[in-house]
Amino acid sequence: MHLSLSRVHFPVTTLGPGRRLGIWFQGCSIRCPGCISADTWGPGHRRVSLDALLEHIQPWLAQADGVTLTGGEPFEQFDALLALLQALRQRSEGDILVYSGHSLEALAEQLGQTRGLIDGLISDPYQEHSEQTLALRGSDNQRLSLFTPLGEARLAHFQRPLHASDKALDLMFDAAGSVWMAGIPRRGDLLRLRDLLHSQGHQIQTSAHTSKRR
Ligand code: SF4
Repeated sequence: MHLSLSRVHFPVTTLGPGRRLGIWFQGCSIRCPGCISADTWGPGHRRVSLDALLEHIQPWLAQADGVTLTGGEPFEQFDALLALLQALRQRSEGDILVYSGHSLEALAEQLGQTRGLIDGLISDPYQEHSEQTLALRGSDNQRLSLFTPLGEARLAHFQRPLHASDKALDLMFDAAGSVWMAGIPRRGDLLRLRDLLHSQGHQIQTSAHTSKRR
């Protein structure tokens, strides 16, 4: 079993409770206007085996409070998603939160097959003209659904408005010196960051310039 992977990171602190393992799938055909993750739209060129991915994340799984699967669109690689969910459930006691740009109704069949494996799901496409007032969501049309007792225990308190104290972004540097962000930026955050860096003589290009986010 292989999957197209964008990246993995630990710890992520902006996409669910605690210090989380984040796994970004590569590939999304939904293409919401205004999405900030346009780098995950294409099919990508990094296909990894599930076994290699599990070996890579094993040290983090032992420390993680939970796992967030996002992208890209995880449900567009459903067989790999299902196998990964089964493996994560066996290896971790943390909660599993999944982001999808598909509606809850459109995912009904797949969710029947993931019963007991997904604790919380944030569904529905990002809408750049909807308000953004809810925790963990990029636009207010997106729904947080809880499917398990663990999801209720760990994620129910995110059925609430955004708080001013909610952290929006994790900033990360990779081995090549590139910086990238995880989380749910507030509207205009990336353009403000670009302007701030530009005023200090730096150049930054983000997909918010051309479009977008979940
Ligand atoms: S917001 Fe999510 S579902 Fe929408 S285009 Fe971006 S990655 Fe795809």
